[in-house]
Amino acid sequence: MNLQLCNVSFSYNHKKVFSDLSVDFSDGKLIAVGGNNGSGKSTLLKLVAGILEPACGQIFIDDREYKQLGRRDLAQKISYVPQFIETAFDLQVIDFLTMTAERRQPFSKKELFEKAYTALERVGIEDFAQRNINELSGGERQKVLIANALSQNAPLMLLDEPVSHLDWSSQIEIFKLLREIVTNENCKIIVIAHDINLIAMYCSHVLLMKNGEVVTYGKTSEILEPQVIQSVFDLKVRNVDNYFMPIA
Ligand code: ADP
Repeated sequence: MNLQLCNVSFSYNHKKVFSDLSVDFSDGKLIAVGGNNGSGKSTLLKLVAGILEPACGQIFIDDREYKQLGRRDLAQKISYVPQFIETAFDLQVIDFLTMTAERRQPFSKKELFEKAYTALERVGIEDFAQRNINELSGGERQKVLIANALSQNAPLMLLDEPVSHLDWSSQIEIFKLLREIVTNENCKIIVIAHDINLIAMYCSHVLLMKNGEVVTYGKTSEILEPQVIQSVFDLKVRNVDNYFMPIA
């Protein structure tokens, strides 16, 4: 899938976040977005999701500008997973998946259930189907969100910090799952992530941002170097056996 942002500018009211930002994500499969808090990662993801609109500039998906595409077209191409979901009422996992899909695609009830179960199986959580979503652990809930995104069969998945509240082993499990998804499915995933070592281990490509600007984008193996990490995060690191360790 081709995905390009060309000379994009964006402000919240009078607060400028991006001016003239360009990046071409066409090459990457599992793409991490990293950078300190406030660098613009979530805003970038929301622009790519079509939730926010650029003030100037253009975004292209498969060579069509977003403005030429209707809401339904974009919804079929992109699934967006926010950081949290809270449901005010008790909802079974299977109902959450089918209700979300129903709003996006005109399938029969039977088809909706089949698609939802297939997505739960793909993530390995078919046993959760009848569980109450509010009674799942953080890691289990994250997997439900990923299954929900998968059930939409969109070729582009956008995940905003899917592991930020998870324990170490669940973080690794989620990144392994994302890598499996891009290997087995014809899709691209862009994921906001903070752990530079998880990015180095699992992501094919990385975009590093600072103060609303793209510092660099490309293959993880070519980009992640101590000097680059130092300039993006203002943190001295050294490379030990391909892991980045902060210098105390
Ligand atoms: P990150 O995801 O890297 O932490 P964000 O994209 O959330 O960064 O934020 C980028 C900048 O935009 C920050 O300075 C933040 O304070 C500001 N910002 C984010 N959301 C809003 C909003 N809804 N209204 C006003 N300013 C916002």
